[in-house]
Amino acid sequence: MGKSKVNIYKLPGSVKQDERIYNALKLLELDGMCSSFDKLTDEAARSSGTYYDFLESLVDCELAWKEESRRNRWLQQAHFPWKKALKNFDFSFQPDIKKQQFQELASCRFIDKAENIVLFGPPGVGKTHLAIALGIEAISKGYEVRFFTLGQLIETIEKVANLEAVELRRLYAVVLRPKVLILDEMDLYETNPTVSTFLFKLLHDRYEKSSTIFTSNKTFKDWENIFGSKERAGSIIDRIVHHCTIINIEGESYRLNKLQKKLP
Ligand code: ADP
Ligand code: MG
Repeated sequence: MGKSKVNIYKLPGSVKQDERIYNALKLLELDGMCSSFDKLTDEAARSSGTYYDFLESLVDCELAWKEESRRNRWLQQAHFPWKKALKNFDFSFQPDIKKQQFQELASCRFIDKAENIVLFGPPGVGKTHLAIALGIEAISKGYEVRFFTLGQLIETIEKVANLEAVELRRLYAVVLRPKVLILDEMDLYETNPTVSTFLFKLLHDRYEKSSTIFTSNKTFKDWENIFGSKERAGSIIDRIVHHCTIINIEGESYRLNKLQKKLP
């Protein structure tokens, strides 16, 4: 069975020329051009610009429109719990973190090199904020990003593992594919063999192919339970740190500091 309805690329003939052009842009799904059509044609009529100038401004509107909708779509698909940018991060509050280092990371060169980032530190120091901010930068530069807390991912694997095998393979593809995977809150979890094997294989397969950003308020040693054994954890951590920026944040909790300032 084919498509039940297709677009027919024909327009009714008996309308004014400007209306006909507008309808054609709509039919061709050039929404950016449609949205600025009246404004740009008015401006062109009043200006002394060339035909090329007019056409270029129309094409630029379409490019900007398509880029904004791509970015918004990818931001949604990343499943960030909230969105905060690097510019919202107060680096003066956290002297352990070098602004320059994050500016370099925001260039996303680490993604081209399939390098990882591990952010260690106690609660409230901004680990998740920084991971999300780098994720947003990556999306703006055209890299696909997916965010999971480790708890969420474990829960999803357990749920899917009870269904058909194809569902588990589908989930695996979802977490394997993105150029940047954020695994937030790599904390203390006892995992069953299905989960630990999934996570082990995932990080094994992403090694030297894609970047993963981890946040944790524990140490590498505490990750043993996640991967099912000391040996497996050792082998995965070895791969993670092979090409990796490790940042230890030892400062105060930003949340707590703000709260204390409000208290009498
Ligand atoms: P963590 O993941 O380390 O527990 P979060 O990233 O969740 O901490 O930070 C807790 C809250 O404090 C968030 O709302 C975050 O935006 C904010 N925050 C933390 N550090 C800073 C900072 N240096 N500048 C601005 N906001 C911060
Ligand atoms: Mg956090």
